[in-house]
Formats: sequence, C-alpha cells, structure tokens
Amino acid sequence: MPDTGGRRKRGSEWKLSNAHEVGQLVRVQCGLCNVRRWYQPGDLKEIFGDVEAEMVGSKMTCERCGKNEFMHVETQNPSARERQSIRVRRLAEIRVVRRVVWRDEN
Ligand SMILES: [Zn+2]
Repeated sequence: MPDTGGRRKRGSEWKLSNAHEVGQLVRVQCGLCNVRRWYQPGDLKEIFGDVEAEMVGSKMTCERCGKNEFMHVETQNPSARERQSIRVRRLAEIRVVRRVVWRDEN
C-alpha cells in the first residue's frame, strides 16, 4: 500500500484543541436564518472529538430551521470588548438517546 500521507497534507488544519489553547471562540452561523451562536471549542470537543474546527459545521444542525446545509463555522478571536456582547452557548448536558430501530424479518 503506497504511503500517500494525504491526511497530513494540509498544514492549515486547525483543530478544536488548537482553538481552545489560544482562547478562541467558535462562531457558528446558519446562512438561512442568519442566526449566530458562539461556542467554546472545549465544549464542541466534548461532543465531536478533536476535529478540525471547520468540520463542526457539517456536524451541527441549526436549532431554528433544523437544517445543516447552511451552517458556517469560523474560529474567532473576539476582543475583550466584543466579548462582552457575546453570549456563549455552553454545553449543559449530553443526552444519550436510545432509539429503537425495527426491521422486518426476511
Ligand atoms: Zn437555520
């Protein structure tokens, strides 16, 4: 098997742990509703693991319209002043939902 090393190719990978280390916030915006929400990278890491910050958009759905296609994620470094006007959405709990899936016997 050839060693492509493709996974490590992009040096610009910015993971949630990186964002957390430098004190960034993650801004998630739904392009459809124009709703912006701010999250702590550490909270998102709890849920999704230490993924690339940009990947979070594909994993979240808008709480208003329930759609996922328009989610846009950016890591930001708000100034102390901006930060005062930002309300960060913190992780309250992770609920594990038991979902029953039925299938018909052949
Ligand atoms: Zn939306």
